[in-house]
Amino acid sequence: TMSIPQAKMELRPLGNTGLKVSSVGFGASPLGSVFGPVAEVDAVATVREAFRQGINFFDTSPYYGGTLSEKMLGKGLKALQVPRSDYIVATKCGRYEEGFDFSAERVTKSIDESLERLQLDYVDILHCHDIEFGSLDQIVSETIPALQKLKREGKTRFIGITGLPLDIFTYVLDRVPPGTVDVILSYCHYGVNDSTLVDLIPYLKGKGVGVISASPLAMGLLTEQGGPEWHPASPELKSACKAAAAHCKSKGKKITKLALQYSLANKEVSSVLVGMSSVSQVEENVAAVRELEDLGMDQETLSEVEAILEPVKNQTWPSGIDQK
Ligand code: NAD
Repeated sequence: TMSIPQAKMELRPLGNTGLKVSSVGFGASPLGSVFGPVAEVDAVATVREAFRQGINFFDTSPYYGGTLSEKMLGKGLKALQVPRSDYIVATKCGRYEEGFDFSAERVTKSIDESLERLQLDYVDILHCHDIEFGSLDQIVSETIPALQKLKREGKTRFIGITGLPLDIFTYVLDRVPPGTVDVILSYCHYGVNDSTLVDLIPYLKGKGVGVISASPLAMGLLTEQGGPEWHPASPELKSACKAAAAHCKSKGKKITKLALQYSLANKEVSSVLVGMSSVSQVEENVAAVRELEDLGMDQETLSEVEAILEPVKNQTWPSGIDQK
């Protein structure tokens, strides 16, 4: 191993884990070509640039690109040739290209498959992926106990749960002993168009649970190119985001910068996961972080964008199965 000169990025404590994660985390779903094709050389170069810029937290799942994201991230991390303790890796279990399976048997097998694809001996965080698609009672009584066993075996250091509806987090956390679930990962709920996660933060802090917030760009809606075909938002929400992006562009500003800075400004969120698929996206997003530290936000453009998004503020979409 050797060392790569690393720029400094703000590190934030993650709940009670003792981990210190970079304020911007690397979302690896785009490396699974889910937003468009990404070549292996570009994936490896993107991971390297992220690490070089001070990003130490990498998030993936066997679901992203049907295992492709894990494989690409594994190649990128290996190519860094730095000590394993220099970076933090989260992957997930229970959601696959073939469908959902939160059984103890499947998730126990899943971690071994993930470790092989990632070329790692352990992950730092293993999340149950999008638990609203499973029975929450099974998550509590079967999946999480299986993950605790994996924790004791050293295959993961910490346990997390992820999903879209916010009430899934309280449902599970109210039913497991304190310290069982170390972190939660929420997405599309702490950004310019939807900031509803903020109401849950005091509860999570009270339980010592670390907070990770993903998709500050609303899974691509808050970019100039717009979201992917499969994006679940309503046409109304999509067109409002498009109008906001166009407004920024007309002023010579970037909606991605504004949106990322908005999500980063709340320090109770330990890491904001943004999906990145090229060296230039990493450069742009890291520049946005540094600019936020130096100059603060562009309040004028933010107010204008908030006005455009006002009619769709906090609008979300259904996700998951009926739990009753
Ligand atoms: P995002 O909001 O981060 O948007 C990603 C899209 O924006 C990609 O197409 C990316 O290439 C593009 N982008 C990024 N920076 C850009 C820039 N500067 N200019 C132009 N385009 C730019 O959405 P996401 O990728 O879905 O979320 C981030 C990460 O969070 C994911 O990769 C994943 O790791 C994690 N996540 C997890 C869950 C879950 O567990 N259920 C759900 C959503 C996201």
